[in-house]
Amino acid sequence: TQPRRISILGATGSIGQNTIDLVARDPDAYDVVALTGGRNIARLAADALALHAEVAVTCHEDALPELRAALAGSSVEAAAGDAALVEAARRPADWVMSAIVGYAGLAPGLAALEGGATLALANKESMVCAGALMLETARRSGGRILPVDSEHSAVFQALIGEDISAVERVVITASGGAFRDWPIERLAGATPEQASTHPNWAMGQRITIDSASMFNKALELIETREFFGLDPDRIETVVHPESLIHALVGFTDGAFMAHVGPPDMRHAIGFALHHPQRRALPVARLDLAAIGTLTFRPADETRWPALRLAREVMHRRGLSGAVFNAAKEAALDAFIERQIGFQQMSQVVEHVLDRVSAQAGLDDAVIDLDKVRAADHLARQLAAEFI
Ligand code: NDP
Ligand code: MG
Repeated sequence: TQPRRISILGATGSIGQNTIDLVARDPDAYDVVALTGGRNIARLAADALALHAEVAVTCHEDALPELRAALAGSSVEAAAGDAALVEAARRPADWVMSAIVGYAGLAPGLAALEGGATLALANKESMVCAGALMLETARRSGGRILPVDSEHSAVFQALIGEDISAVERVVITASGGAFRDWPIERLAGATPEQASTHPNWAMGQRITIDSASMFNKALELIETREFFGLDPDRIETVVHPESLIHALVGFTDGAFMAHVGPPDMRHAIGFALHHPQRRALPVARLDLAAIGTLTFRPADETRWPALRLAREVMHRRGLSGAVFNAAKEAALDAFIERQIGFQQMSQVVEHVLDRVSAQAGLDDAVIDLDKVRAADHLARQLAAEFI
């Protein structure tokens, strides 16, 4: 069989490196087209050389000389900047991993979909900001989207062979993040360092902080609504501190199909890489007798207001997801830079959503990338003023 042409957007990050770990185990199976990164030029160049990529791209134009130097004498092309990123994502490929963090991942992911690729989607922000546009682009081009976020991969797997009309509800689990056992009064003083540790998963810093604030779960609720097209009232979250059940699908006959697995992203990445086959993966096997107990508790919207705000976005749809995400990204930046406290992040997002609510066009059913860009820009501006 022919090697599959693959690209990895966000190759230097946590998901990108886990993807490369799987790909590098079977080098003959893949022709690597593009690898992209940001500041970590040494990692990007080393992986591009080892995997014989066609092109390596950094989003930072000022880093091009360093990337060129690191690739000198090899056949790997070097490129830089946002336009180069989109161009690389557009190069013909069978399978593209979308693992850039944040809103920046939307345009390259769309470009890959436009080319008809199968897009393995870790970048949940794409579905939150422009779910309808992503699905429509895939439909038009003959491409497809496979979820990589662990909860959505779990739901996807639980739905194989099932009829979506028999789904009563979907429950995605939440670890509860770094502060799940803190008394609520302590949260006001939580620091970025404290929020940057995760009880179960090793991930990039931004998603780790988003786990502590539950903004990650909020994004995932919206992602579930967009990806599976379910009524928001059928989508729930529950705190499950062990992070072994990733999601459950409840059917009209009372059955619950739960997806259980170790907290290792190589499972969901590998599932998307090999779909529709299931192949052996180098993840730990669970010893249920040793684990003993799985526990669950309610996800409290007073402790985590992000969950309440997500529900509003799930009902409104249109451009409200782009506004929600942009305000969240601005608030997260401000928290990391110590301009605002931990609990003020949700206040920023709520304020921006309220301010934009009055504006025309937020509920537009038909959205395109220009409208999403404008909504993103406006939300960041309003967030900055409020901060
Ligand atoms: P990381 O922060 O570890 O990696 C982000 C990647 O994006 C890096 O390659 C980084 O480059 C690059 N990057 C950063 N900013 C930009 C930009 N403005 N333009 C282009 N590229 C950029 O993130 P994660 O791997 O943790 O997460 C990636 C995505 O996957 C996120 O959307 C996250 O929500 C999602 N996800 C992650 C999970 C995980 O386990 N980590 C689980 C489920 C979903 P560099 O580092 O070189 O600067
Ligand atoms: Mg997840």
